Amino acid sequence: MDGIVLVFDFDKTIIDVDSDNWVVDGLGATDLFNQLLPTMPWNTLMDTMMKKLHAQEKTIQDVEEVLSRTPIHPRVVPAIKSAHALGCDLRILSDANLFFIETMLNQLGIRHCFSEINTNPSYVDDEGCLRIVPYHDFHSSSHGCERCPPNMCKSLILERIQTSVEKEGKKRMVYLGDGIGDFCPSLRLKEGDFMMPRKDYPVWDLICNNRQLLKAEIFEWTDGEELENVLLQLINKIYYEESISKNDNNLLLDCKFELPIATIKVPTY
Ligand SMILES: [Mg+2]
Ligand SMILES: [Zn+2]
Repeated sequence: MDGIVLVFDFDKTIIDVDSDNWVVDGLGATDLFNQLLPTMPWNTLMDTMMKKLHAQEKTIQDVEEVLSRTPIHPRVVPAIKSAHALGCDLRILSDANLFFIETMLNQLGIRHCFSEINTNPSYVDDEGCLRIVPYHDFHSSSHGCERCPPNMCKSLILERIQTSVEKEGKKRMVYLGDGIGDFCPSLRLKEGDFMMPRKDYPVWDLICNNRQLLKAEIFEWTDGEELENVLLQLINKIYYEESISKNDNNLLLDCKFELPIATIKVPTY
């Protein structure tokens, strides 16, 4: 099933919270964060918060410790491992930062399941302070999308992924996300792709109100258990459809098709 590309948002999709808020709250800096939020872009604020926390003698180990307690639904890791074992190409597309994401994926033992992490770069400086850099350097130029925050338009990254996977002969894409920033890339998905918005989250509302703008088929999910069920059934469905189009009887006889394709939840909008 190496023809399938799965693109995961991270915050509130793989993990059940926003990692930026989780770290800020976990290190006791919520008030300062809320005070500074109206004064600068979110991504710049996270870099500022890391500097402030470092000045308060919070260490990288403190950050890692908070990250190790991040809530995640118990079915998400098995879902990711299954999709990887089935041969899908898993990628992350997130407006968090590389340090948070890699730390958590390593803690969860699933870093190897992802071929790529597209997110805001980060590094630990000589003083041991975590620094967070915008994915798109908006000080030198705008990325040109008015829908998205200045540091990242996920559409532009998704387009790059589409171009590169098409060269590798990969055809079908499934995108999972919850946030406002996941709406823009959902519009770039093509016919035959699948969008999996988290139900009752901002991207789901936007999609419900703009259903006609999407070419991808839409399958909602509410929690990690549904994420796992829907995702594995979609992988199965794609596998089945691709086998029919290739007229591959061996694939059609494969026992993987015992998964009940017909029970995939049909969206109600
Ligand atoms: Mg998210
Ligand atoms: Zn955009």
